[in-house]
Amino acid sequence: MDYVRLGNSGLKVSRISLGCWIFGGPNPAYGKPGKVSPLESARIIDRALDLGINLLDNANRYTGGEAEEILGKAIKGRRSEVVIATKVRGRMGPGPNDEGLSRGHIMREVENSLRRLGTDYIDLYQAHSVDWETPLEETLRAFDDLIAQGKVRYIGCSNFPAWVLTKSLWISDVHNLTKFVSLQPIYSLVNREIEKEIQPLCVDQGIGMILYSPLGGGVLTGKYENGVPVGSRGEAEPQLLEQRVHPFERGLRVLKEIADEVDKTPAQVALNWVIHRPAVSSAIIGASRVEQLEENVGAVGWRLPAELSQKLDEAFTV
Ligand code: NDP
Repeated sequence: MDYVRLGNSGLKVSRISLGCWIFGGPNPAYGKPGKVSPLESARIIDRALDLGINLLDNANRYTGGEAEEILGKAIKGRRSEVVIATKVRGRMGPGPNDEGLSRGHIMREVENSLRRLGTDYIDLYQAHSVDWETPLEETLRAFDDLIAQGKVRYIGCSNFPAWVLTKSLWISDVHNLTKFVSLQPIYSLVNREIEKEIQPLCVDQGIGMILYSPLGGGVLTGKYENGVPVGSRGEAEPQLLEQRVHPFERGLRVLKEIADEVDKTPAQVALNWVIHRPAVSSAIIGASRVEQLEENVGAVGWRLPAELSQKLDEAFTV
């Protein structure tokens, strides 16, 4: 495994990280169902740590909290090896203050996450997305207090537009509050929106990007080449094919050709391409089985030649 600094911070994170979104559940009350049993989830986490992955991404609302409990149990005795990243913002109950980035909700939810994770600190606490009803200064002050209390070590954000991240950094500067060190956006060969503004901003400001859906939810593994495999995400989410496979047929063909040429799998090439893009610290992969994780970790420790990287770039430009 290779490790890099998370943006300008001193925290070192693995180039490939593991997402816990689909671990446990289902939770009918809060939307997204889980997919992987607690037992299999624990096996995947264990193997990830053995393979050198140190960054594990979670959120308070993943599978209604079960994903944090699974992670907490799985890392017992190995806490110091792990960089726990979790998030707050999503709806956790029916009340008006059961969601968002208000001081009250953050203070309550951090305690809930700490309890479920079985730890007394969170390495990276992230705002899951913008809360348009809470002033950014209120959120940043609450985060700053959590750092002072030792409950949180670094803060980051996710799904923030460039201007909101810029404003957050400015508020932290003006009020001498702890700054976001990272941004978690969606980014892969089939999702390149961030290249316009967010990525240059992160380069300029030394913000480390931790990418989600770096395999486009699985489409960049080549698994949909001959239809939809039974039990795959494409079966549950047919829009995956409409949005991320059909418009990129040429790109997916070239990805497969390049993978054959360098003797890697399409997933390994797609991940290798994305982790070497500017401002990227780590790519959070999802895995429903240990074998997927093992394959994906093969994206690290080598580098796609520049001309092939450019060829991929062009093939996925629609
Ligand atoms: P990916 O793009 O890595 O997709 C993962 C899925 O692709 C797997 O669950 C599996 O699905 C399939 N897959 C992965 N590797 C292989 C392989 N080698 N061979 C075949 N199939 C494979 O990422 P996700 O979309 O799952 O997101 C990863 C993480 O990012 C989440 O767990 C979460 O932590 C974070 N995230 C954050 C969000 C945010 O708003 N901040 C939003 C979404 C995710 P299957 O087997 O079912 O086909």
